[in-house]
Amino acid sequence: MTTAEAGAMVHPLATPCARVVVVGAGHVGSTFAYALLLSGLAGEIVLIDADRKRAEGEVMDLSHAVPFTHATRIRAGDYSDCAGADVAVVTAGVAQQPGEGRLELLKRNAQVMAHIVPAICHSGFGGVLLMATNPVDILTQLAIGLAGLPVQRVIGSGTILDTARFRYLLGQHLGVDPHSVHAYIIGEHGDSEVPVWSSANVAGIPLGDYCAQRGLPHSESTFTEIFTQARDAAYEIIEHKGATYYAVAAGLLRITEAILRDQNTVLPVSSLIANTLGIEGVCLSLPTVINRGRVQGVLSLELNEREAQALRDSAAVLKARLNELQA
Ligand code: NAD
Repeated sequence: MTTAEAGAMVHPLATPCARVVVVGAGHVGSTFAYALLLSGLAGEIVLIDADRKRAEGEVMDLSHAVPFTHATRIRAGDYSDCAGADVAVVTAGVAQQPGEGRLELLKRNAQVMAHIVPAICHSGFGGVLLMATNPVDILTQLAIGLAGLPVQRVIGSGTILDTARFRYLLGQHLGVDPHSVHAYIIGEHGDSEVPVWSSANVAGIPLGDYCAQRGLPHSESTFTEIFTQARDAAYEIIEHKGATYYAVAAGLLRITEAILRDQNTVLPVSSLIANTLGIEGVCLSLPTVINRGRVQGVLSLELNEREAQALRDSAAVLKARLNELQA
């Protein structure tokens, strides 16, 4: 292949003319839109919200950052704008009411998705549908059914945020940049998620060995405490400030970048799992290769028996919740 031919294969939408639609201009959606604006990845950002005034207010505020950032077009729109979008990110949802149970909240957010997802897809949407609204694994699975898109084009942010929290906290303990910590949280984005200790490493060195070399604590309880902090971080942040949005917005940006730049990046996102370790027909997170337009492949992680069982248990929790919803 000549250099000219290789150049010609670069996708014409490899970033600046890309359109990203954000459905839900609340904390998560508007923070993601801001991160996207600062990144310069998109040529156009469209905000859609049931509260049109809120979307318009966010658009005004974001637009005033354009002179300091990139010549990105930002506007409030409607579902017809999804027709030309490369990525549609769904962050819309209803908040838990006092005294409301998990199932009631799930039912209400399922109703929100029953409105939003078909509206996105009926526009002629040809991009990737990226779900962030919680419970993200269940809603990603519902979205697959509602969208009528190829399953590879519907993903959830999954455990990208949990994995980031985990790497950050491990980096703090190990005294290294979290970018140098290779460790995943898989399964549900939620209480049944699973830390993969067996392959966690720094420069290929298992974490226990790394700690022994550096004279750092490495008992099971030390590592369990780090995982527990990562898993429960959202509860603590919500208790302090009511919502979490910066880190998830950065995670959504990372997924969007992998899609728009056709990067074949491995990220822990939620997708429909077909026959992995006996798990089938449920959305959960495993390391996944993402490129332009789709999930390119879900990787088979080497797990020890304890981790594999925990992953199967996590899948069972999600399936039970889906059944509860559909009962
Ligand atoms: P928020 O209340 O600030 O924003 C939600 C927005 O959705 C509001 O602006 C509301 O008007 C809009 N909305 C509601 N129903 C709509 C509809 N039918 N059509 C269009 N817009 C609609 O909430 P938030 O803090 O931004 O959180 C949004 C969601 O993201 C929640 O479900 C939250 O749990 C989830 N979240 C996910 C992660 C993750 O890792 N996946 C992390 C943090 C938060």
